[in-house]
Amino acid sequence: MLSRNSSADPREAEVREALMAICINTAVWTAKGRVRDREERHARPNLKKELVRIVERVALSVDSVEEVHDVKVRSYGGMYYVDMKIHVDPDLSVEEAHRVAERVEETVKKALGSGRVVEVLIHYEPTTPHN
Ligand SMILES: [Zn+2]
Repeated sequence: MLSRNSSADPREAEVREALMAICINTAVWTAKGRVRDREERHARPNLKKELVRIVERVALSVDSVEEVHDVKVRSYGGMYYVDMKIHVDPDLSVEEAHRVAERVEETVKKALGSGRVVEVLIHYEPTTPHN
């Protein structure tokens, strides 16, 4: 895959080799993750629902969170991506609401295992009756 012709800059070859190693590592890592996803789905077919319930419960336990809805947990490569909406007191400042969202993010990561959560996307809305 690497040609060693005499005119090539040896450092360029080194860089190419390093990049190739990174690509291979990433491919192995992703393949392992897919196997992990499949094994998990097989062992625990209700895992997604369980995870959604956990996220709802721990998010609601955070102060100032009045409602939680549209929780989605996706897993890819053995890692979790969480998406959710929370309702907070409309009198909170944007900064306060943001801090609440950060606390929810930390709590969710802790509950699902910090090393396994890539992203927790939280949309916060003022509490108003809606459906
Ligand atoms: Zn809402």
